Amino acid sequence: MSLITPNEITEAGQIGSDGRGGWVVPDRPVIPFIEGDGTGPDIWRATRMALDAAVKAAYGSSKEILWLEILAGEKAYAATGSYLPEETLNSIIQYKVALKGPLTTPVGGGFRSINVTLRQRLDLYACIRPVKFFPQLPSPLKHPEKIDMVVFRENTEDVYAGIEWPAGTDEAAKVIEFLNDQMGCRIRQDSAIGVKPMSSFASRRLIKMAVNYALRTGRPSVTMMHKGNIMKYTEGAFRECGYQLAKEEFSETVLTEDEVGRLSEKGSAGKVVLKDRIADMLFQQVLLRPEEFSVIATPNLNGDYISDALAAQIGGLGMAPGANVGDEAAVFEATHGSAPKYANQDKVNPCSLILSGGMMLEHLGWTEAAEALQRAVQETIAAKQMTYDLARQTEGATLLSCSGFGAAIVQRLA
Ligand code: NAD
Repeated sequence: MSLITPNEITEAGQIGSDGRGGWVVPDRPVIPFIEGDGTGPDIWRATRMALDAAVKAAYGSSKEILWLEILAGEKAYAATGSYLPEETLNSIIQYKVALKGPLTTPVGGGFRSINVTLRQRLDLYACIRPVKFFPQLPSPLKHPEKIDMVVFRENTEDVYAGIEWPAGTDEAAKVIEFLNDQMGCRIRQDSAIGVKPMSSFASRRLIKMAVNYALRTGRPSVTMMHKGNIMKYTEGAFRECGYQLAKEEFSETVLTEDEVGRLSEKGSAGKVVLKDRIADMLFQQVLLRPEEFSVIATPNLNGDYISDALAAQIGGLGMAPGANVGDEAAVFEATHGSAPKYANQDKVNPCSLILSGGMMLEHLGWTEAAEALQRAVQETIAAKQMTYDLARQTEGATLLSCSGFGAAIVQRLA
């Protein structure tokens, strides 16, 4: 399968629009990839092998991905002096999908998160993270087989909007003065200030995407996760937005939990049940009663926390795929970060990025390849062929390197 350079691209490789909100995907689409920092290059290599093998297994030589490298993160900085070159953003807009390895962000200073910038600049407003148990995955739960959830995390607002000023700066002082003098607040002078904007526009489109997904895939419920008891006008309004949306746009297909009665979790006559849970309580309930939750729609910060917590129930971050999706483009990436302490050791679990690639194949409508890939991953894990993160928790496991895991997937697809 092919790695191409910009000079080798032809028009034929571009994904087009069908004019009805869907895609027209050529048999040889150009797909840009960002290798990523830290462990990114290791998991990207294993992922590319697995995806190419899945496409070949499903379609022989009639379809093929043409991989085009685009730069972001440390590699981009070394080559161009920018962590996120405009050219990279333009390529994703042009080709409509991309696969991305994790990128490092320093804590407390330095540059702003490239991941957050990418999501905001391309308006990739939904971060979609499926969490599903496969047999033989290590789990702290007694019945991990009950876990089958998909998190829809709002990606562009909330405290992730990046509007904040350090304590002691003129900007922080100005905001503090305004809030204390004109809004009746009592904020200490040495405070740092962060702003949490949440619009009904962004909340509504995210919840709408989650509800449409539940309807399309036959899932029984959508749970809005929020902290509206404390943050009434931001997270509380998120919840209200959802119920209003259900009334205005989904009256034929969605019922609220009140409407079906508190004890029913199955939905009613094929309708999706829309419900809400306060964030702290949901953390408890996904452990104690995971079968009651199917699709979770949530503001940005809650979504960050719950995604990692759910990943821990199905083997950890190495098993957690994700997609950042907007109306015009989609970037597929693992839930985890660059795990720099394991960089270049060919050691970490590439499943997170491989399964993100599987989501990308589904997004392209290459369902047969997505299913073949998913089956190969499941069979490899069921055979206890595992990278260190899973193997150390599994009796009788065969320890594989990152590339060894990729090769095991290829072997099952051959
Ligand atoms: P991390 O997710 O990179 O790693 C935390 C730990 O999780 C690792 O030490 C490792 O034990 C485990 N882990 C992660 N990926 C794994 C894998 N594939 N297989 C097995 N185990 C795995 O979190 P961190 O150390 O807090 O963050 C490192 C950097 O990544 C930071 O700069 C952070 O900002 C960035 N980050 C990037 C993204 C992204 O690119 N989307 C997401 C989260 C964090």
